[in-house]
Amino acid sequence: TSFGFQTVPEDEKEAMVKSVFNSVASKYDLMNDAMSMGVHRLWKDEFVSSLKPGRRGPMNCIDVAGGTGDIALRILDFARENYADRESCVQVVDINDQMLEEGYRRFKKTMYHNTPQISFHEANAQQLPKEKFADNSYDLYTIAFGIRNCTSMPDVLSEAYRVLKPGATFACLEFNKVDNPLLSTLYDQFSFSVIPLLGTILTGDRVSYQYLVESIRRFPSPPDFAKMIRDAGFVTGKDIDGAAWTNLWGGVACIHTGVKV
Ligand code: SAM
Repeated sequence: TSFGFQTVPEDEKEAMVKSVFNSVASKYDLMNDAMSMGVHRLWKDEFVSSLKPGRRGPMNCIDVAGGTGDIALRILDFARENYADRESCVQVVDINDQMLEEGYRRFKKTMYHNTPQISFHEANAQQLPKEKFADNSYDLYTIAFGIRNCTSMPDVLSEAYRVLKPGATFACLEFNKVDNPLLSTLYDQFSFSVIPLLGTILTGDRVSYQYLVESIRRFPSPPDFAKMIRDAGFVTGKDIDGAAWTNLWGGVACIHTGVKV
């Protein structure tokens, strides 16, 4: 695993990811806006609206690597605004307590605070404690910009499969490698110079942002990631409805879904 200009062994990656997000937690939302020029909001909106939470009645959702609760808030808002649903609930799970704390603080300002609709839990996506996250218990599993930070993606996917009810959906929003050569050059320029520079200016932490950029390059291509989802037992693509993944913005980001059989 490469980290900045050093090499970090796989078994140290988890601790390092934790420290990266510890160091950026309080500035995380600001940095997201600055780094993506606000575009992450549009992608997250599209991700959640494509899943139509609440359409078939209240849902029990788990948002893993949920950080400060961006996806959870959108799920609850979407269900309430479109289906007058105030019963769907989201459990936000993250390995980093400081990210969760930011999320908790943020939800204090919303109508969901102190209701069963939202809760925050510290756990590792690769090994969700069974007593808390039981088999076959969720209608929707989401993971946004999180799976690429995990040491073992197959373990994350098999845990997702375990906790979902049969017929329920796994949905992942993630950055993508860009194929178009022109877009790819622009994107490289932006990500390798602008993002770490913004990181330094806004949070004083260049190395963390360098790491985040590098983790995007190591992420598998959409067909390879779709295969990993199928290998975990999910059905993807034409077997459900249409393509296995949806590209956003010419493939800069991508939505993958799978259904538990
Ligand atoms: N989903 C949020 C969003 O889209 O704004 C947060 C994304 S943030 C880029 C990645 C999150 O993954 C961080 O909050 C980090 O702590 C969390 N994370 C990294 N490794 C994890 C693991 N093994 N289990 C659970 N969460 C993890």
